[in-house]
Amino acid sequence: MRLKIPDQFPIGPHKVKIRWSNADCEKEDAYGYFKYGPNEIVLREDLLTTDPSGGLLIETVIHEVLEAIVCHYDIEMTHQTIQTIGLAMTMFAQRIGFEDVPK
Ligand SMILES: [Zn+2]
Repeated sequence: MRLKIPDQFPIGPHKVKIRWSNADCEKEDAYGYFKYGPNEIVLREDLLTTDPSGGLLIETVIHEVLEAIVCHYDIEMTHQTIQTIGLAMTMFAQRIGFEDVPK
């Protein structure tokens, strides 16, 4: 199985867009980030090519989806908790056969 990252996906009634931009992520000093205003997750394009087996792309996507869920449902959660759940979910996704090489 390979990751098929959609252009957008729903969180409840909200449509979250996914956009790829190295430049914007460099400004944020992140592999990806979620922004509430435009309701979008921005991901580094070079995650698609620079980390073929490290799980960085899938971890980044899962982490930012969690950030979006926490934001939209106004859940109180520390960033450390988001990181821990994201890492655990990444390990589970890899266990069930997701790879992060979307070729
Ligand atoms: Zn974060």
